Amino acid sequence: MDFRFSDEEEDFRRSVRDWVNDKYPKSKVNEMERKEDHDGSNFPHEFFSDLAAAGYLGVGIDESLGGQGGGATIQAILMDELARNLAGLTWVWGISSFCAKSIQRFASQQLREEFVPAMVAGEKKVAIAITEPGAGTDLLGGMVTRARRDGDGFRINGAKIWSTMAHVSDFLLLLAKTSDSEKSSAGKTLFLVPTDQPGLVATPIPKLGMRCVGSCEVQLDDAYVPATHVIGEVDQGWRHILTTLNNERILVAALATGVLRGVMEDAIAYAKERRAFGHAIGDFQIIQFWIAEMAMKLAQAELLTYKAAWLYDNGEDAGVESSMAKAIAAEYATWAADRGLQILGGMGYSAEFDMQRYWRDVRLYQIGPVTNEMVRNMVAQSLGLERSF
Ligand SMILES: Cc1cc2nc3c(=O)[nH]c(=O)nc-3n(C[C@H](O)[C@H](O)[C@H](O)COP(=O)(O)OP(=O)(O)OC[C@H]3O[C@@H](n4cnc5c(N)ncnc54)[C@H](O)[C@@H]3O)c2cc1C
Repeated sequence: MDFRFSDEEEDFRRSVRDWVNDKYPKSKVNEMERKEDHDGSNFPHEFFSDLAAAGYLGVGIDESLGGQGGGATIQAILMDELARNLAGLTWVWGISSFCAKSIQRFASQQLREEFVPAMVAGEKKVAIAITEPGAGTDLLGGMVTRARRDGDGFRINGAKIWSTMAHVSDFLLLLAKTSDSEKSSAGKTLFLVPTDQPGLVATPIPKLGMRCVGSCEVQLDDAYVPATHVIGEVDQGWRHILTTLNNERILVAALATGVLRGVMEDAIAYAKERRAFGHAIGDFQIIQFWIAEMAMKLAQAELLTYKAAWLYDNGEDAGVESSMAKAIAAEYATWAADRGLQILGGMGYSAEFDMQRYWRDVRLYQIGPVTNEMVRNMVAQSLGLERSF
């Protein structure tokens, strides 16, 4: 057993940390995140271009398609280090990675070559449009968005919700019903739907965190998609997506781990600086206990996240571990940000400081991309208990 990163992984980790500290210090991210994005104008376009210029949009993508190669471990290192300063904004990378990986894995050669190198270069943006107003956790049972054949393509009618970046993206990676099947996991198809058409309207929803990124309600009224833009096989979309979900959960776990790291740094710095009753507040035992607890939770989140990534990269079943890592890291990071806010007292509540940003951003990851209750259902089922839903 070896708990160390390889030299190559460690070098990469250091280079990402230097890049983030240089280009995206916490103060800059704080400014970016504060302004709600209603029309795409506050979307962090510069950050997206910088990710492309640094080659980060290609991490985990095949070299033959313009990527940097690498597996879940190297992706998790990138996510962890970006999130230390950027918190929820890091998910801009997660969305692109999930979409590029799904296209790389299942799309036709032509679509792959048309999309993946352009996405890696930051020239094409693709958002995920899976959740619906009436279908979140019970996605398959509640899905009503439907695609019907029309000549050389499909017409899509329905609505999606929470599609992050949809208002600034060129295409949506969208799951729609294509046939009625007794099995709810069948009869769904994955499409790459062009957003530049009158039948598709994406409207950002005001939200608690990640305000400049924009998460949208998407209305689809006879939206057209050519048949060449079907990803994988018709009616097999859910089966395709399932295989990239573990990777997505590992990346969310890494994001939350990075947030916990950033929170702990700020909590320690403030505890050493702020004085009360003739002491630094970090001399008080309760503050020390909270910070010590952060360190213990960070160690657990790291262990689970990188173990899940290791299993994934070694071709082993990472289903339970990646779900556990996502749930644990999200809960621990939320706990840490809440205690961090308390350590900063009134300044924890001030928009001038980063703690409130971490607190708002990381709360999301107990809800999406899968809720922590659903993770517990799956873990219980993996232990031989009856499926509860
Ligand atoms: C900011 C943000 C960004 C997002 N980005 C995207 C995106 O880019 N693309 C996309 O497709 N989706 C996105 N989502 C959607 C996200 O994946 C869903 O919100 C999530 O899957 C939960 O679905 P829901 O909100 O409908 O909750 P619901 O399914 O309505 O759940 C409500 C509550 O009931 C609980 N519950 C439901 N069923 C069970 C059960 N069987 N056992 C126990 N508890 C249960 C849930 O755990 C939860 O606590 C985003 C969401 C947010 C908030």
